[in-house]
Amino acid sequence: MALNLLMLGPPGAGKGTQAERFARARGIPKISTGDILREAVHANTGIGQRVKAVMDRGELVGDDVMIGIVRERLEREDAMGGFVLDGFPRTVAQASALDGIMTRRDPLIVVDIVVPEAELVRRLGTRMICDDCGTGAPVGSSVGAACLKCGGRFVPRADDDQAVVIERLKVYHRQSEPLVEYYRVRPTFRSIDGAQPPDRVAADLAAAIDAARSGAGYGVQG
Ligand code: AMP
Repeated sequence: MALNLLMLGPPGAGKGTQAERFARARGIPKISTGDILREAVHANTGIGQRVKAVMDRGELVGDDVMIGIVRERLEREDAMGGFVLDGFPRTVAQASALDGIMTRRDPLIVVDIVVPEAELVRRLGTRMICDDCGTGAPVGSSVGAACLKCGGRFVPRADDDQAVVIERLKVYHRQSEPLVEYYRVRPTFRSIDGAQPPDRVAADLAAAIDAARSGAGYGVQG
């Protein structure tokens, strides 16, 4: 039984960190649309050139582009045994396309990470990525520290300056928060408290997933 996990929550909720950690522990791929887009921008591909300005403003890239990217990624062999999806869907249109993509696959487990707004603003103001490969810096890293993946330098994320942070949170409330209602009615939906230390969040996430899997009517598996 494949573990197909979808992480919901506002920017700064810790989705990326928890998704990475969980995917590594379970040996399944973490698929982050933000990472895919940042890599495309960095490599200056056609898609990268088209999405850069939109991302820098904190707005959402068009549904068609995003659905195409995710459809192609989820059809790859390594995603057949399960995956952790981070940053997608972000609109109801994306969620409904994802349901289409997931037909005849194991059900999506959906976990919403809840964090108060003031804490999100504080976290987003201090978040960094590698200047070279776009990987997110571990919490608490300092500017200029070396990236563990490629040796590049950590810098503040371009879309994390104050005005853009406010815009991204507005975009979240307007376009992505309705997703919580979209998924809440499913037996595989759970929400967890993301305003705790990362280890606690990780433990709650694992427990929520086990509960959601038994709620879906099949046995819990390690
Ligand atoms: P993230 O790293 O998930 O916060 O994504 C960074 C930026 O990439 C977002 O602010 C959007 O501009 C864009 N992006 C990532 N995922 C999506 C998506 N599913 N739909 C639209 N835009 C996205």
